[in-house]
Amino acid sequence: MSELSPIENFHGITLALSKGRIFGETLPLLARAGIQPLVDPETSRQLILPTSRADIRLVIVRASDVPTYVERGAADLGVAGLDVLMEHGGTGLHQPVDLRIACCRLMVAVPQGFDYDGAIRRGARLRVATKYANLARAHFAAKGVHVDLIKLYGSMELAPLTGLADAIVDLVSSGNTLKANHLEAVEPIADISSRLVVNAAAWKLHRARLEPLVNAVEQGVREFQRGGSGS
Ligand code: ATP
Ligand code: MG
Repeated sequence: MSELSPIENFHGITLALSKGRIFGETLPLLARAGIQPLVDPETSRQLILPTSRADIRLVIVRASDVPTYVERGAADLGVAGLDVLMEHGGTGLHQPVDLRIACCRLMVAVPQGFDYDGAIRRGARLRVATKYANLARAHFAAKGVHVDLIKLYGSMELAPLTGLADAIVDLVSSGNTLKANHLEAVEPIADISSRLVVNAAAWKLHRARLEPLVNAVEQGVREFQRGGSGS
């Protein structure tokens, strides 16, 4: 029991990533910075992944937990969607690089045929289901629209179909999920992509240690843009 865990023994750089889309799209950028995970998080249960660089490791966390890990210094850096970062808020995170991956839009969507503009003009009180309660609240407050926010943790599309809500605030990329559920996007809120984030205090105190990695990732993003390998 007295043996130190790998986390306490580690003095290198810790990067927080979520599984799935962000992991998949971040990997090629890390590869260009000379970093390859030695374990596949999609098949392994390991949450701390060593990489080809002994001084760099990955920690696998829930997408919405990335800001918390980085802000509190449990990870030095992380990759998170702008949606997650804006919803999290706060000032403890420095955002040096737009990775231009996992691009989508945060939008208001309603059942097809629902007169959204009319409802707003009439001053109707909309029931809005979303995982992004802070962003949705700010969006509708800025428009002067009264809403009842219904906080959900997933499958927002289901809310209007079941009568739980009149509208949703959710991420849209192709629009296929909305279409499959007879919904349509009626208003954009924000353009979203994933960002590299750094603990703000660490960026001031240990910048020399972190900057080469940040620069390498940034260079990778630029090479990708030039290579035109975007989907
Ligand atoms: P969890 O599944 O653990 O609840 P999550 O749904 O937020 O977390 P992902 O679906 O992997 O996890 O999404 C992670 C990030 O990818 C989001 O925060 C967003 O920035 C981006 N993203 C989500 N959906 C899309 C999409 N349809 N197209 C492009 N990017 C997306
Ligand atoms: Mg998801």
